[in-house]
This record gives sequence, structure tokens and C-alpha cells, in this order.
Amino acid sequence: MLVSSMIQYTVSALLNASSDRVRHGFLSRHGGVSVGPFKSLNFDGRDGDLPGNIKRNKAIAAIACNCPIEKIVTVNQVHGDTVLCLDEKTLAWYDSPVDADAIITALPDIPIGVLTADCVPILIYDPVKNVAAAVHAGWKGTVKGVVVAAVKAMSGRFDSSPADLRAAIGPHIRECCLRVGDDVREAFAASFGEIDNLFHIDAVGLRLDLRAANLRQMVGVGLDVNHITTDAPCTACHTDRFYSYRKEGGKTGRQLSFIMVR
Ligand SMILES: [Zn+2]
Repeated sequence: MLVSSMIQYTVSALLNASSDRVRHGFLSRHGGVSVGPFKSLNFDGRDGDLPGNIKRNKAIAAIACNCPIEKIVTVNQVHGDTVLCLDEKTLAWYDSPVDADAIITALPDIPIGVLTADCVPILIYDPVKNVAAAVHAGWKGTVKGVVVAAVKAMSGRFDSSPADLRAAIGPHIRECCLRVGDDVREAFAASFGEIDNLFHIDAVGLRLDLRAANLRQMVGVGLDVNHITTDAPCTACHTDRFYSYRKEGGKTGRQLSFIMVR
């Protein structure tokens, strides 16, 4: 579902229908103040965008999404499977991002998020326990099972039942554009076993379906397939709307996907 305002972002109707206590969104690159390769709603300063621009982009997103994005908690995404559990204690010492690729929390009014430009953003919500997760899953994180780690952390820390969870897969590089080598295919074979429906072969070579891989992992750990939104656009096909690390040659910004419980 596309929401138009000062910026453009999509929400999962399935997540929103599950409770009025969750707020979330997959932001596009529209509506910010960053320029050059970061044009325009960039949230990541690692590649050289100005801190002042990122701060202004957060303020713009906060107003557009009616959510305190200026205090969003993100992590240093390192393509692993470490999950940060954000509670009163960890929030108290949280003055700079830690290395992790997923965040879970039951803290109200603290948005959590992941930054992507081709990797898969996944937002998960438990309407029974009022717990949220934000997951960053590139191919390496998917091989390591980062979304499985996030669901298990929700169960272990907050007693979430996977059958209650709602999940939404956001914009990422789809199987139309994600060309990979045999090394990636071998890594998936070692992790997944059966990989026939995860790879496509054409005249040029292999293409990987990261959406199918993460969907399979979520269903495998107990989520209902009918509780997962998967209709996300391809970032590389739509660089007018999204940052794409591969399509834009590595010099680009990162779009934000966020979720917050109230
Ligand atoms: Zn594509």
C-alpha cells in the first residue's frame, strides 16, 4: 500500500490490520534534502553524506510518518545473524550503534529500523505480545538465517508465538536483477539443502531469489504464510524510487524501513 505525503513510503496492510499499536513503513528515496548520489531521503552517513542532511531527512520522515524517527535506533549492519534486544537496560547504554543485523523490542514509542540499498528489509510484529523486529537480510545474512534468529529471539525474550507473527518483506533487489556466482549457490546449498526454487538460470548465468529464501525461512520457523506480505518492488529496476547499491555502482544512499510499537 503506497502512502503519499511529503515523502513516499509503503506500509503493509496486513501488519496494520493486526493491531492499532504498531506503526511502520518502508521509505523510498523521495522527499529528502541529500544531493548527488545520496539524492534524496538518505539515512546513512558511512559513504560521505553530510550529517546535517541526514538529520534533516530524519526530521522530514518523522513529520511525514507521524513517528519520532529522529530517535530511531539502528545498528551497524555487518551481514551477520546477531540480534540486538532493545530494552530499558540496553537503551540506557546505547550511545553508538553495535554490530548486529536485527533489532527486537517491546519498548513503546522507540522506533527501530534497518537501512538498505538492495538487501532485504523485513519488519515483523507480534500483535499479541506487542513486540516488533526489524531485520536486514542480504545474501550472507540470509545464508546465516538472520530472520530465523530474530524470530527465535522474539520467542525467547518475549515469549512470542511464531504463529501470531505478522511479517512484511520490503523493497530489495529481486530475482530479475540479482545475479550471483557459483560461490553463492554453494553457500545456499549448504545452508538450505534444497535450493531449486531459489535460483534461476538464464543465458547469462544465475539469479537469486532472496524473497523466496527468507519466506521459506520464516515459514520454516513457524510463521503462517498468509501472515507475510511479499509484494515488494525491485530496487535495481526502480532507481528513480529506491537506492540500489548494485545498479548505482556502490556509491549511493540507504532507504529506511522502520517499525515502532505503542
Ligand atoms: Zn529488478
